[in-house]
Amino acid sequence: MLIDNHNRSINYLRLAVTDRCNLRCNYCMPSEGINFSKNDKLMTIAELSQVAEILVGQGIDKIRITGGEPFVRKDLMVLLRHLKTLKNLKDISVTTNATLIGPHIDELKSLGIKNINVSLDAIDKNTFERITRRNQYDTVHGNLIRLITEGFNVRINFIVLDGQNEQDILPILELMKHYPVSVRFLEEMPFNGGSKTFQKIKWDYKAILEHIATAYPNYKKLESPKTSTSINYQIEGHKGSFGLIPSFSRTFCGSCNRLRVTATGDVITCLYGKPKANLRDLLRTSNDFAAVEKTILETIGNRAKTGFDAQQEHQGVFENSMTSIGG
Ligand code: SAM
Ligand code: SF4
Repeated sequence: MLIDNHNRSINYLRLAVTDRCNLRCNYCMPSEGINFSKNDKLMTIAELSQVAEILVGQGIDKIRITGGEPFVRKDLMVLLRHLKTLKNLKDISVTTNATLIGPHIDELKSLGIKNINVSLDAIDKNTFERITRRNQYDTVHGNLIRLITEGFNVRINFIVLDGQNEQDILPILELMKHYPVSVRFLEEMPFNGGSKTFQKIKWDYKAILEHIATAYPNYKKLESPKTSTSINYQIEGHKGSFGLIPSFSRTFCGSCNRLRVTATGDVITCLYGKPKANLRDLLRTSNDFAAVEKTILETIGNRAKTGFDAQQEHQGVFENSMTSIGG
């Protein structure tokens, strides 16, 4: 069991498998001039598997695969097949933009990997294409519906962006009301590769809830697991639910159970903090699993208490893109 210096148990790893992406969501990265990591800096599938294995041995029982876009990595399924063999790993999930998942749906299903988060910030095609700067709406929509109808446990991540997609908040709830999905509205965070900076946001979780209440006053709060980052609600007559994720307001740090490892092996103990160690280098220089375990224990023993504390290290300025951190 991994316990941090604030007595929080850490059982959830977000493992990024690449920093590349086939979309260019404007809240995540600039349209061009992005310094993606060189291929040899990315962990190989064997290294990603080793990192996962070591961490599962230390008490991680839930891994979310993220990126960049995980499915741009052609060998992703090799990693997923390996993760399925880890006995103490109870939950494997994937966060994806759903552009490239289509050919892998059958195998995901047969592997029993059913928890898929799909990022979708608009239901209007033009809005989607303005935000993502690519024309992939039809593919994403098709794959999303296929995932839902084939029985995957789908959650939609919708970042509410001032002046860009607030007009789609109510329609996406209306569209999803017949489906058993959770639509989670996230606050925008300042990790966009330096393309814009901001100190506050208009659409915080309270503003989003007030807006939803104008159309759906009959919502009720749902019980959520203690470590959940989303506050979840049910609208009367809707098959699915919705959630609010205060990712900028950071009200959930007290029960944070997460550790992040980037595609280049950096260990991130708080989204708002700086990398604390690099596992790829450790594996490449010595292949010493005990040294990796020790490093993980050291980083977890030295976690910031909250995202605001971690932010102090940055003095308010973030140059990172979410595509390298993994969300
Ligand atoms: N490409 C995949 C996707 O978009 O789902 C996985 C990687 S993406 C970096 C992981 C999550 O981070 C997505 O749900 C995305 O919407 C979210 N994200 C990216 N940039 C963000 C930002 N600046 N603020 C809040 N969430 C962000
Ligand atoms: Fe790509 Fe996901 Fe970032 Fe969009 S949010 S640019 S899909 S990594």
